[in-house]
Parts: sequence; C-alpha cells; structure tokens
Amino acid sequence: MVKKILIGLVVTALITLVALPLLAQQEEIRVIYDEGQAQATIKSLTFQGTNFIYLKEMVNLFRLDLKWDAITKKVTLTSGPDQVIFFVGSPQIMVNDKIKRLIQPPRFSNGAILLPIEFLSEILDGVLRAKIDWDPKTRILKVNGGRLNIRELRHSSYLDSTRIVIDLLRPLSYRVRKDIPAQITIDIYGGEGNPGQLSLEINDGRVKNIQAFQLPNATQVVVRLIQDLPYKTFILKNPHRIVLDINPPQKRLGYKITTIVIDPGHGGKDPGAIGKGETREKDVVLAIAKELKRLISERLGIRVVLTRTGDYFIPLKERTAIANNEGADLFISIHTNAALGRARGGGFETYFHSLALTENAKAVARFENAVIKLEKGGRGKSMSQAEFILWDMAHNTYLNESSELAILVQEELDKKLRIRNRKVDQASFYVLSGANMPSILTEVAFISNPREESMLRRPDFQKRIAEGLYNAIVLYKRSYEKSMGLAISEQ
Ligand SMILES: [Zn+2]
Repeated sequence: MVKKILIGLVVTALITLVALPLLAQQEEIRVIYDEGQAQATIKSLTFQGTNFIYLKEMVNLFRLDLKWDAITKKVTLTSGPDQVIFFVGSPQIMVNDKIKRLIQPPRFSNGAILLPIEFLSEILDGVLRAKIDWDPKTRILKVNGGRLNIRELRHSSYLDSTRIVIDLLRPLSYRVRKDIPAQITIDIYGGEGNPGQLSLEINDGRVKNIQAFQLPNATQVVVRLIQDLPYKTFILKNPHRIVLDINPPQKRLGYKITTIVIDPGHGGKDPGAIGKGETREKDVVLAIAKELKRLISERLGIRVVLTRTGDYFIPLKERTAIANNEGADLFISIHTNAALGRARGGGFETYFHSLALTENAKAVARFENAVIKLEKGGRGKSMSQAEFILWDMAHNTYLNESSELAILVQEELDKKLRIRNRKVDQASFYVLSGANMPSILTEVAFISNPREESMLRRPDFQKRIAEGLYNAIVLYKRSYEKSMGLAISEQ
C-alpha cells in the first residue's frame, strides 16, 4: 500500500513538474480530545514541507457528512447547520459562506483527496467550534471543545442603534439583567461557548465592548455601554439566535411592516433586457410595480415608495439608499429574465442576496449587475467581486427573512401564473447589497421567450403578477408580525 502511494506521488510530482524535496514517508498523527478524554491516530503525508491528512479520515474523525462531485471536483462537508465547500486544487475554502484561503490547496494523491493540516483549524474553528493545537514536533493534534452550543457573536452598528446577535446551535433559555449602570448582562442557561470568540470591542458611540464568561451552568454575556440606553431583546429562529437591540428605532416599536419600497428594475439609458418583439424590460416592470403599489396602498393601507415612477436612470446603490432613507421594512426589486446564450428559458424565479452557487444564478446576477458599467464611480470599480461578497456577507443580517419572502413570492406567483416555476435561488446582486432590510429580486418571466414576451405585454398578465406579489407580501407581513409579537410577549 505504501509503495503504491509513493509511486502515485512520484507520478503526480512529475506531471506537475514541481521540484519536490525528498518525499517524507507516511507518518502518523496522534489526536487527543478534551485534555486526554479520548484519543485517535490518523495518517499524514508530507509534500514540500506541508503535512497533509486524508479527507476520508478527517470526515470519520469528526463525523462530518461528505458530498463529492467528481465532475467539478467539489467537496461539501456538513455538520449540523454548518457547511464547508471547497474544490480540490483550489486554495479558497467557503466556511459558512465566508471565504478563507489556505496556503496549500487540497490535492489528489493516488485517487484519494488530501488536505493540508491547516484545513483542520479552518474547519474546527468554523464548523466544530473547537480549539485546535497542532504541534509538528510531537505530531500531536489537540482538540478541545467542539460541542459548543453558542456559536458566534455578531453586531451591526446603524446610525441610531446597535444590534447584537448571539447565534445558538439550539434553543436555550436566557435572562436579561440590568443591575449595574451602563451594563446589560445576558445569562444563557446551559450555554457553552468559547469566551474568546464571544468577546468584541465595538466602540460605536453606544456600546463599548462585549465580554463573555463561561460559568459552570451558564454563559454570561456582558454588554458594556457608554451610557444607559433603551434596549430590547427577542429570539429569532432558523437559526436560533438571541437579538439585543440597543436604542431600537422608535418606528419599529411594534415591529410592524409599515413601509415597502418597490424597485422597478433599469430605466432611462438602461433598457434592461429587450424581447424579440422589442418589448423593453424597463417598461414592463414599471407597469407591474405601479399596479403592485396600487394594490398594497388600497388594500393594506401601507406606505409604498417606488424607486422610480417614470422612464429615467437610477444607479443601483441609489435604489437601496432610497429604501434605507425611507426606513422601509421590505425591498422588492422587479425584473424580467433573459436567456442570454443559456438554454432557451421560461418561467419565474426569485432571488435573495447571497453568494451565487449555481451557473444559472451567476448568469442572472451578471446581467442585472452589468449596469454598474453605466454608472460613474460605482462600487464595481473599486471593489473586486470577492471583496464585495466578503464585505456583504458580514453585513447581511436579513438572510432568513429574505429567503422566507422569496419562497412566499414563488408560491404565490405559482398560483397566479401558468408558466414554469423555476424556484428560489441565491446570488449576489449589487442592487440588494446595501439594503438594511429583508430584500428580494424577482424575475417574473422571460422577456427573451417570445411566448412569455407577448404575455408580459398584456395588462391582465401584469396584473396577475402584481396580485401574486401582493399575496406573498400579505402572508409575509402576517407571519413576520406574528413572530415579532410572540418574541416580545415571551420576554
Ligand atoms: Zn433586470
């Protein structure tokens, strides 16, 4: 077996034409868990001074679920709600939608996938929430923790308020105390967290810092303020999290949806997609948006603001700026799809803003983002796509709400339209990236498909789309306000 592996390695080295130093022999690594409570051994191989371990062994060791796509060489590892995605040969690793970079990429050897040992610290840190120490001299890997149920502490600072979010692996009961001036203490019963990972320096003018302490039967999270301010806590689900709002906006006291911004895509010098019959996306989506506004304001009595009411150009980032300035509770961007060299398409699909994972989603995002070239000083020029995604992931607080709304939109459009339901997907759209509220982008039909183009021209079809969107908003509003009401009364 050893001989076979070595032959494989030599062949690989010759093929890649990399000058390798002498190959180290296969060696063993000793794994010690929780200060010696359990032990295991795994094999390792050395290439160019880097220790590699077998993917299969690591998966067994940490009981991860493994999915392998031989065509794309994509590996997906899951552990509970956490996910790690990488491609053999690429140093970029996606840990729960955050991109990390390894010095040495995962590689093949004799048909097996090998991971550099630094991969363990990336995974254990991101997925198993354990502390890991690797000592190359003694060849001992120490794994401590890994069964933590408090995963992460996040915060967002807004103009007037600060939101602190504690991510939990499962529901835990908690109590909020306010017994010291300028300090809020949250006791999470049965909580087990890594205090180092649950401490933050914030200094945003309201919150100084957050510090966590692990007690025998609880985790204590201490939030230190500059001065006493009103606050509010509640629980959100999927994933479970405790939310603490410092100086919450008065407008949102009731946590009701009171303002919706509807964004008809494109406009002015940017016509959007154009059908074979010369129908322009910008005209169709404006008509649908106006009808939707009429339905919402007449039937729900909610304030609706359109980002444009005529045929003129608006840069992408100004569209969400309008929503942020209006204090909108929802942002809905309406578009029509185009096949653009893909297989001839048809149907409706709805996106929420996240990293695009499918080729179709990437193609749609590329098209809708292309207008950035028409804008002066657009973000697209100063930020690379990867930087943009990283920046945005850190700020995306409304992922769950947005995906929930997207699902409802698909379900309700499905009841109204007799064209293909292409489902909910995710992609990174500039137009959604600055939104400080749940937001979606819906592609209501294919303007590049002659049959759907002629439908899109008809006022009755436009009206049915608006009704589907309206029904989804009604259902979302009902479930959102109900969950908020419950969360507040539970305190
Ligand atoms: Zn569009």
